[in-house]
Amino acid sequence: MDKLEQLEITAKENNVPIMMKDGIEFLTDLIIERKPKSILELGTAIGYSAIQMARCDQSIEIDTIELDEVRGKQAIQNILDEKLDHRVHVHLMNIDDFITDKKYDLIFIDAAKAQYRRYMEMFKDNLTDNGVFVFDNLCFHGLVDNPALIQSRQTRQLCRKIRDFREWLLNADDYNCDFRKNIGDGVAVVSVKTR
Ligand code: MG
Repeated sequence: MDKLEQLEITAKENNVPIMMKDGIEFLTDLIIERKPKSILELGTAIGYSAIQMARCDQSIEIDTIELDEVRGKQAIQNILDEKLDHRVHVHLMNIDDFITDKKYDLIFIDAAKAQYRRYMEMFKDNLTDNGVFVFDNLCFHGLVDNPALIQSRQTRQLCRKIRDFREWLLNADDYNCDFRKNIGDGVAVVSVKTR
């Protein structure tokens, strides 16, 4: 069995959120088209998307950040198994502590959904001139657009935050946003307008 199929099964069994199939396809197509050399990923989980992104081209270098130690260590092992550890660097830490002046061609944001706008502000100076942000889970399992289906108060608050972020993003003067509601769990590609 291919490593990725194995990871898909492990993720399902352990309730680890990994990117949906057409979402990951959209992301890897974007990478093949835009040819980023450096990628920053917020939210490694078990390394599934980092491995997929790294496989797009041998010249790609990835920094990926994960706070959860158990998942992060699994990611490190998975990346090692794939012999990608010389190009994919897992940083087991809080995103807020990852301070760098390194520039990235693509910043993939898939960590705490309520923090998306803050992450964006935090890392916008780390984008190269033609760099883009990519966001995942902007529909949050369809719940953002169907609040009546939400059971818990916590999820309702989270979905409201995601919806506010989406609205802000679509109307922001400084950013171009290509929001694909029907791809995966809602994916957006965002570039900075004025520099
Ligand atoms: Mg995700």
